[in-house]
Amino acid sequence: MNGENALPRLLLLVFLFSLGLGARAQPAASEPALPLFDAHLHYNWEPSPRVPLDQALELFKRTGVRGILANSRPNAGTHALYARRSEALQVVPFLRPYRVRADVTSWFNNPETMTLIREEFRHGYFAGIGEFHLHGDEARSPVVADMIRFAREHRMMLHAHSDVPALDILFKLYPDARIIWAHTGFSLQADEVDRMLRTYPGLIAELSYRGGITDSSGTISSDWRRLFEKYPDRFLLGSDTWIDERWDSYARIMGDYRPWLAQLPPEVARQIAWGNAARLFRLKP
Ligand SMILES: [Zn+2]
Repeated sequence: MNGENALPRLLLLVFLFSLGLGARAQPAASEPALPLFDAHLHYNWEPSPRVPLDQALELFKRTGVRGILANSRPNAGTHALYARRSEALQVVPFLRPYRVRADVTSWFNNPETMTLIREEFRHGYFAGIGEFHLHGDEARSPVVADMIRFAREHRMMLHAHSDVPALDILFKLYPDARIIWAHTGFSLQADEVDRMLRTYPGLIAELSYRGGITDSSGTISSDWRRLFEKYPDRFLLGSDTWIDERWDSYARIMGDYRPWLAQLPPEVARQIAWGNAARLFRLKP
């Protein structure tokens, strides 16, 4: 290569290289986008949902969400979604132990909680109980012990918005539980998350509101890449539509997972996006 040609060739190489990166981050138009499973979907119904059913189904379709873990306060929203399940949208219903918003901070001390759970359970289709909020010693309450006994008897999964001490207590009560860990500790250090996944094989980490996965430029952090590659079968995505604003930005929230999924080995990305939920909830392919 002579000196005169070196710069244009270098620029050409940089250009080709950037094309290559672009192609890796964004699937070609002909390539179908990864199907997504939303493992943290609230369809709250108090007294009516933010988004009517038909619009919600259209939103899932447009966003590439082909399955949801549905729960709501009260459970009416989950029943309505479950009645509309189809091949285009598989619905995994979870029983929420709340009737009204205030239950979030008192359900674990309210004996009425078990009445609600037993009544709702009669529908016969709930795969689990949650999302419930439970921290520290709150997990030692007799109501929680009753709920765990019930879940154990009926082989139900749990969806817990919990800190590490509460999870430790839940696993002590129900050692072979499968617990979906809402938000994966929010900002808990990656090595602590690693320790929890190592300690509890039944723990499945759901990633809504989880900080630290990417840096400000959107590049996946080395800690989180390591976690995803070490435990590719232990992560789920979620929207957490707990307030209206989350419904208003639903397409962006779920869409924001795609750029970092595209930075992972394709098989790992497929498992986190859909495959882990498919295995856990026995979804149709
Ligand atoms: Zn939630």
